[in-house]
Amino acid sequence: MGFVPNHHGRGAMTPEPCAVCDAVVPYSDAVHLTIHTKSDAGVVDEFICPGCYESEIAAALE
Ligand SMILES: [Zn+2]
Repeated sequence: MGFVPNHHGRGAMTPEPCAVCDAVVPYSDAVHLTIHTKSDAGVVDEFICPGCYESEIAAALE
């Protein structure tokens, strides 16, 4: 227990749309980000395609 379905109502092992470009990528290729927000949303799970990870996230972590 403790699993909270996301707004897509799908489980964790299905392909996920990239949170940046909306491309649906295989679960095994997606980069899973667990984002700890400072808002009421708390911890947010997002999936990012490898391309967006390179351009959006890797740059942000510099
Ligand atoms: Zn993307």
